[in-house]
Amino acid sequence: TRPTIVAGNWKMHGNLGMAENLAEAIAAGASESKAKLIVCPPYPYLDAVVRALGDSDVHVGGQNLADQPDSGAFTGEVSGTMLRDIGCWHVIVGHSERRSLYGESNEQVATKFGLARDAGLVPILCVGETLEEREQGQMESVLKAQLEAVVRMHGVDALQDAIVAYEPVWAIGTGKTASPDQAQAAHAFLRQQVAAHNATIAGVLPILYGGSVKPGNAPELFAQPDVDGGLIGGASLKSEDFLAIAAAA
Ligand code: 13P
Repeated sequence: TRPTIVAGNWKMHGNLGMAENLAEAIAAGASESKAKLIVCPPYPYLDAVVRALGDSDVHVGGQNLADQPDSGAFTGEVSGTMLRDIGCWHVIVGHSERRSLYGESNEQVATKFGLARDAGLVPILCVGETLEEREQGQMESVLKAQLEAVVRMHGVDALQDAIVAYEPVWAIGTGKTASPDQAQAAHAFLRQQVAAHNATIAGVLPILYGGSVKPGNAPELFAQPDVDGGLIGGASLKSEDFLAIAAAA
């Protein structure tokens, strides 16, 4: 059986006070949730959030990491080693906003995935198709290419102790959630792709759904057999909503 995970991607939102308050409220409510909880604040607030979460079971993740190891002359970049150093256990790699707005290729994402693992972080690999790709019948080929780039570079064993998040681009921040059936179909496809390499790893790999998850739609999404939790954007910025989603998992 797989763990259920609910992760919040705060994106570039909030300020220091809000980040601390949100973390404290989530820590206070976390024991009610059976799901493992992760929050991913902006870089400048990571340290404060680690402190605010104290000895709760909520883990902290970065939203991105450098495509270079450890340290070096890479102005503006933050390495996985640094994230781990300040108390992160996770990091999001290949979010669709990184891919589309910052031009991250499947290979660059795969490089970051490996560096996250090297640094001792659990990568949350985001994959997902655009509306155009879906309408042209390319969903499966897009998902396969995004996943296979990681397997090709690091081997399927790299997906052990990793998390995948299926985030259809058309559902992110749009209020258009994938239907439970659409989510299940994509998740089952991803799991089957991994199983073609290694059925054991496929069986334990948590695959989260992301894209306009709210307290109202979380229960039916999380009830799907291959949906192991969620990666939450907008609704992760309010502790009541995030905790309500966690309670549905
Ligand atoms: P929303 O929940 O705001 O649609 O964002 C999803 C997302 O991109 C999480 O990484």
